[in-house]
Amino acid sequence: MISPKSEPGNNEKKKVKGSAKTTTTASTTPSDFIREIIDEDLRTDKYSGRVHTRFPPEPNGYLHIGHAKAICLSFGIAAQYDGLCNLRFDDTNPTKEEVEYVESIMEDVRWLGFDWQDRLYYASDYFEQLYNYAVLLVKEGKAYVDDLSAEEIRQYRGTLTEPGRESPYRNRSVEENLDLFERMRAGEFPDGARVLRAKIDMTSGNLNMRDPTIYRIKHASHHRTGDKWCIYPMYDFTHCLSDSIEKITHSLCTLEFENNRPLYDWFLDQLNVYHPQQIEFARLNLSYTIMSKRKLLQLVEEGHVNGWDDPRMPTISGLRRRGYTPESIRTFSERIGVAKRDSTVDIAVLEHCLREELNKKAPRVMAVLRPLKVIIDNYPEDHVEELEAVNNPEDPSMGTRKVPFSRLLYVEREDFREDPPRKFFRLAPGREVRLKHAYIIKCERVVKDEKTGEVVELHCSYDPETKSGGPKAARKVKGTLHWVSAAHAMEAEVRLYDHLFVKEDPGDVEEGKDFKDYLNPNSLETLTSCKVEPGLAGAKPGTRYQFLRQGYFCVDPNSKDDKLVFNRTVTLRDTWAKIEKAQTRS
Ligand code: ATP
Ligand code: MG
Repeated sequence: MISPKSEPGNNEKKKVKGSAKTTTTASTTPSDFIREIIDEDLRTDKYSGRVHTRFPPEPNGYLHIGHAKAICLSFGIAAQYDGLCNLRFDDTNPTKEEVEYVESIMEDVRWLGFDWQDRLYYASDYFEQLYNYAVLLVKEGKAYVDDLSAEEIRQYRGTLTEPGRESPYRNRSVEENLDLFERMRAGEFPDGARVLRAKIDMTSGNLNMRDPTIYRIKHASHHRTGDKWCIYPMYDFTHCLSDSIEKITHSLCTLEFENNRPLYDWFLDQLNVYHPQQIEFARLNLSYTIMSKRKLLQLVEEGHVNGWDDPRMPTISGLRRRGYTPESIRTFSERIGVAKRDSTVDIAVLEHCLREELNKKAPRVMAVLRPLKVIIDNYPEDHVEELEAVNNPEDPSMGTRKVPFSRLLYVEREDFREDPPRKFFRLAPGREVRLKHAYIIKCERVVKDEKTGEVVELHCSYDPETKSGGPKAARKVKGTLHWVSAAHAMEAEVRLYDHLFVKEDPGDVEEGKDFKDYLNPNSLETLTSCKVEPGLAGAKPGTRYQFLRQGYFCVDPNSKDDKLVFNRTVTLRDTWAKIEKAQTRS
């Protein structure tokens, strides 16, 4: 009962409401407030006609679909304006960062279809330069070494309603500050003993401006600089100066940095260096999805999923393994657009973009996920026909293939009902259906397991006159089923996925609970005795198909020569298309 699918009524209604909100802000307008700013800057020649953006991930986890939006935006804008976009690792925290993350991030950006060419940078490459900038601030009396502990600094900072208090160390002489800062670098003091702070305004209404920390002591090895440094610069100081060093024009980041912008500007102004423009946009939130690297890491480390690339994860590597295409993610990013206000996008929008593409590109094949044996009693034994099947009705250029048909077949267990309800137009005793690309068959007799009463096989007859494409093919029956020939079928394992969380907003945690309490216990269903068309033998990991009537599937790297493994990328049912239709009607 926890699966969201079990309450379609409730969910559908909610979704329609939620999504209506999203579509109004998410139209496919080519322009938005960021592009308007850039257009204006080009008109006034603010950056001599240049557009230069950057994507600055911190290598402390794998990228997720939210990052994909940021990547598509920064790289996309650069491409649109004939500009450049840098990839810059924001690697100022030695303890959380790993080479594995750096590599996965590069792979993901490339896979999405973007190219930083020779502009791969690391904030850590600027450590010497950043240190020199900090020394400059000290020399000008704009930064000081503070001996307060982290806890004391927090207490002195004040609150939104109370001004902060000045540290007793705030008025040290320039000479003393220079000496102490140098000795911080030289490793004379333990972690946390001292910090370097900017001297701004302890009464500022913006807490970020109350003498923010610029450097802290951390005796830790860095993935690139090793043990060269034991002081590390803070994000706010590093980021604006890295942008400046790289001559970025428009530095796009998410809304939570809006209150950091005055600080971004302050450092650049005080140091009197090249000054990029920071512009904030709303981050992407997706229904039924968690988008924080810290929480995703927890899911991986505690084994709630099978790694960062588990197909249920919203990571780019998870989506890739699931069968998502880079094109569909780029289309999605474009469609949802950029806004100044936070909102949640219905995950159905992402699925819709994928279906739209796969419908055009994915070859159709037949696969039986839960096989039920069918014996065609009046079909000659040992006879095999190679029937012609269209690969994609949406695209004739994809041609046709041959599918073997024989006396012993498998059909989907759920396509048979001994006691069919109204409007069940599939197999039932005495009923006729068409087998796709083949013949009309009639269910003559049902064989059950004597002990359990379970249906184990169906005996059917076929009408040889009704071959698909033949002269009498026009004879109509209501249902058409997919099938595979038993002797020819290939074994497969199929993994079916549902939302990883049962709650539409898993970040909205009730008191006494944790986001993991909303994990969907039915998010993965593994079917191990599926049967697929023999033509799929040898399919490479990453190959995508539409399994007729079942959805889109992608070959998983776990596949073996004698047993393919498939991930269900997405079902055929398009809730988003329905929602859109309902909207245009109303
Ligand atoms: P998380 O909060 O998921 O841990 P982060 O912001 O700490 O992510 P970074 O590596 O610092 O991760 O992010 C790199 C860039 O991606 C930043 O410019 C950030 O603004 C952007 N970004 C991160 N999450 C999203 C999101 N959900 N939507 C859009 N952009 C995002
Ligand atoms: Mg961050």
